[in-house]
Amino acid sequence: MNKKVLITGGAGYIGSHAAVTFLEAGYDVVILDNFSNGSADTVRRVEDISKRGLRLIEGDIRDKSCLHQIFSENEVYAVLHFAGLKSVAESVSDPLRYYENNVAGTVFLCEAMEEANVRRLVFSSSATVYGDPVENPVSERCLTGKLSSPYGRSKSMVEEVLQDIAAAKPAWHIAILRYFNPAGAHPSGLIGESPNGPPNNLIPYISQVAAGWRDVLRVFGDDYPTPDGTGVRDYIHVQDLAEGHLSALEAINKRAGLHIWNLGTGRGYSVLEVIRAFEIASGRSINFEIERRRLGDVAECWADPTKAQMELNWKANRSLTEMMTDAWRWQKNSLPSA
Ligand code: NAD
Ligand code: UDP
Repeated sequence: MNKKVLITGGAGYIGSHAAVTFLEAGYDVVILDNFSNGSADTVRRVEDISKRGLRLIEGDIRDKSCLHQIFSENEVYAVLHFAGLKSVAESVSDPLRYYENNVAGTVFLCEAMEEANVRRLVFSSSATVYGDPVENPVSERCLTGKLSSPYGRSKSMVEEVLQDIAAAKPAWHIAILRYFNPAGAHPSGLIGESPNGPPNNLIPYISQVAAGWRDVLRVFGDDYPTPDGTGVRDYIHVQDLAEGHLSALEAINKRAGLHIWNLGTGRGYSVLEVIRAFEIASGRSINFEIERRRLGDVAECWADPTKAQMELNWKANRSLTEMMTDAWRWQKNSLPSA
């Protein structure tokens, strides 16, 4: 019998790519999603790509009875926990919603897991927990810095909750994955990132400018202490990220306790380099203007991925060009939203 994973937030951007990866690796998949930022259509596409069926449950991680029912009806081997809200700006204006959904939601999920004797968890954290890193590349040993948003603090708080669970309950196997900047889409062009309204992130914004949905990209600052003055980030292909989850689950299977891994490429690119790469991949020119720095942004942040490479036997292999090519293919298949 195949092992079964519960993927919370599996109708969203990263969770849907992970669902494909796990189905293709022979796992059975149950997705729990409240569709606040995902859709059933995405899940149908996951089935089309992987040519396998899965169980989709519309529900909320904060709904205890829903969680109880899922764990009693399914023999769940492990939980991949993607469900959460992710807009930095929204978290500043509505912090309680973020703490309730991301922190309290995770507490409910862990309680239900404990009750059901399901103690393998892979959690979606973020490089945002490093704040303004004191050095680059950033390794897992770097102290987590002062955080500039409730979103970042919600990730950091969940990490602490999980540390406490691991300390109190040795039977748990927990992977905290700190993602750098996820980008790109599945090469089929069937699933990708679908921001609601104007995108906050660089690559979806560039894609929409290239598609003619938006007039101009605002480049937030060209006076950072970086080679061309624009911000530098470690962009990682969403499929490399998805594969990192598979390796992480296999690794925690062998070792109990809590483990933290950076998922990044180890290479940073500036905003101007990303624009150029996208122009080459799409054959379109990107209209951009230099604006003031965005509040809360750091100059540069890229990963030291050595720990993940050594302990997970995993490496991000896909190039910036592949990320841009796949992001553009997905964009061309998408319809405009608000
Ligand atoms: P996403 O919004 O595309 O996917 C999240 C999914 O979770 C959505 O389908 C949404 O409907 C669902 N969801 C939200 N709250 C829920 C709840 N209470 N109950 C059930 N379902 C719920 O986001 P994503 O980009 O795929 O991110 C996945 C995870 O990775 C999030 O936890 C996010 O914070 C984290 N992360 C994302 C990035 C990024 O840049 N995309 C970077 C670092 C970390
Ligand atoms: N950025 C930009 N214009 C945009 C969105 C982002 O210049 O419309 C820059 C941002 O200042 C940062 C980089 O692109 O240097 C990546 O930003 P993003 O929001 O994608 O990810 P972050 O690292 O902030 O989570």
